[in-house]
Amino acid sequence: MLEVRNVTRIFGNRPAVDNISFTIDRPAFVGIIGRSGAGKSTFLRMMNRLTDASAGRILVEGREILGLTGAARRAWQSQCAMIFQQFNLVPRMDVASNVLHGLLNRRSTLATMFNLWPQTDILRALQILDRLGIAEQAPKRAEALSGGQQQRVAIARALMQDPKIILADEPIASLDPMNAQIVMDTLRRINLEDGRMVIANLHTLDTARRYCDRVIGMRDGRIVFDGTPEQLSTGV
Ligand code: ADP
Ligand code: ADP
Repeated sequence: MLEVRNVTRIFGNRPAVDNISFTIDRPAFVGIIGRSGAGKSTFLRMMNRLTDASAGRILVEGREILGLTGAARRAWQSQCAMIFQQFNLVPRMDVASNVLHGLLNRRSTLATMFNLWPQTDILRALQILDRLGIAEQAPKRAEALSGGQQQRVAIARALMQDPKIILADEPIASLDPMNAQIVMDTLRRINLEDGRMVIANLHTLDTARRYCDRVIGMRDGRIVFDGTPEQLSTGV
């Protein structure tokens, strides 16, 4: 379902991602590991079309996504929702509204400006929060929540878009071990229960071993490992 073919991204005259290719043919939980600067984040940003590729193709169910523009590009962006290390919530806005903002691409600007969401959207947001165990946080400001709760709000916002793929850029790098485990368990549960592919940039081998079906190791923009957690040895 996902085919990455010879994708390169050059900044200045240095490749951040250097001719990478791989295929993922089922909704797997894929971890991308590698040191800081390896090109992991640049790759996710190209998938989500937050940044352009310099060369190559990315095919999702046979459709090229690197050339999409305008409304087609925005539609793609809601099919591959992204979550970030720093959660990227609106801190002073309540949790439910933060989740509803996952629909910004799909609802009228005027309605969203005045926080006039259809009742069905509001109910769905609350159901998703309930599923992630944080329904009682819905009326609170995002900034009042713990980091682990905030990341679950970000996951809820992503789910609001009903994405095929969830891209997670260092989703637990700012969390303590207990919250990190809750967030990883949540992502894994969504992956298995909903059949959504998850591609997560991770910085520890242990997390990759524990949660992933497949691990891709990057170094200096290139893929240096691609296999199961069992096949993974140290030193990526
Ligand atoms: P093995 O057959 O020994 O498990 P493979 O390299 O064929 O080794 O697969 C590694 C693992 O990575 C698989 O068990 C699977 O979980 C995952 N995997 C491999 N290839 C794909 C793929 N094309 N799409 C999704 N997941 C894959
Ligand atoms: P990782 O996520 O693995 O830490 P990144 O994808 O963030 O790696 O970065 C890969 C390389 O690309 C690094 O050398 C980084 O400095 C460079 N890079 C990333 N974004 C930019 C940018 N916007 N402008 C210039 N260089 C960048």
